Amino acid sequence: MTNVPDKIQTWQMATPFRKDRETGEVTPGKLEKAEIAVPELKPGEVLVEVAGCGVCHTDLGYFYDGVPTVSKPPLTLGHEISGTVVAGDAKWVGKEVIIPAVMPCRQCILCKTGKGNRCLGQKMPGNSMGIYGGFSSHIPVPSIDLCEVKDRGDIPLEHLAVVADAATSPYQAILRSGFKMGDNAIVMGIGGIGQYIVQELKAMGANTVIALARRQEPLDKMLLNGADFAVNIKDKSSRDVAGEIKAIRKEKGLASTDWKIFEATGSKPGAELALSLLSFTGTMVVVGYGAYKIDYALSRLMAFDAEIKGTWGCLPEYYPTVLGMVTGKKINISDYVQTRPMSTINEVFEEAHAQSPEKRIVLVPDF
Ligand SMILES: [Zn+2]
Ligand SMILES: [Zn+2]
Repeated sequence: MTNVPDKIQTWQMATPFRKDRETGEVTPGKLEKAEIAVPELKPGEVLVEVAGCGVCHTDLGYFYDGVPTVSKPPLTLGHEISGTVVAGDAKWVGKEVIIPAVMPCRQCILCKTGKGNRCLGQKMPGNSMGIYGGFSSHIPVPSIDLCEVKDRGDIPLEHLAVVADAATSPYQAILRSGFKMGDNAIVMGIGGIGQYIVQELKAMGANTVIALARRQEPLDKMLLNGADFAVNIKDKSSRDVAGEIKAIRKEKGLASTDWKIFEATGSKPGAELALSLLSFTGTMVVVGYGAYKIDYALSRLMAFDAEIKGTWGCLPEYYPTVLGMVTGKKINISDYVQTRPMSTINEVFEEAHAQSPEKRIVLVPDF
């Protein structure tokens, strides 16, 4: 094989940021260029040449906020990866692939009962696969969960990195809601995850999708990409928002029951608003992560015959469906992704940490 390297080039997290518990003093973390050996591939493993790796909120959590990785640093972060297989399992060599962000063990009771997305033994690049992660030139991974990229047309392979995480977790969340064609939905928050929930709901045959957010520009863009209605919630009470949604229901003659509500902000106000909108036979799915606690009268669930559910990751089996929505242009990724050279990783992390970028940043190896 001509494309097999002597060494893997990588940007390792040497040390994450550390905050002293007593003094509150912060020791800055470091992402450093490193060279590591190409491991001997085990049967069923392949070496993937990375085309792009997306910067996810989770990576920032590991680096800045003391969220521990399963494999201890130094390790390479990054779990949103697309690339080309260059060695290993012969039937994969030369193929373009997406590496699922979480790969189930396929042995445990959860895996055997269709809940492998929450397998407790799952492997995740840039977290629990030793030193290997996506912010590298190459990564060794098992081939069993790879999603082959076919007919990508004019979509760059590096853009498809977002299918590894940002675009697939929403699909699992939608299935988790019990969504059926013709259902109505509200999506609270249209950032990296929420905007794909909106797009995929519509692609999957939702009747009406209402997007809620605090900034007008992304809401306007969402109206071009799947949302039927956009409600700007800035400085509005939950009563005001409920009133606007009621007006939309009236205008379109929609039922008040059985709405699917997705909380994708990971914030307390977002969750409170979503809960206030949950009504008769509705389902709320918690997609966003935040360390808040909330007051809620659980008896409302009883009275409404309603449900609140959590959702985690996405089964590798669903990746081809999501990829098909992207390559079939049923969902738009091009307007929601930007690429940067991987050598700017330190600046990019700082930028994304300071403010969540409007377009997902995918780092492209330039070693
Ligand atoms: Zn992620
Ligand atoms: Zn398992």
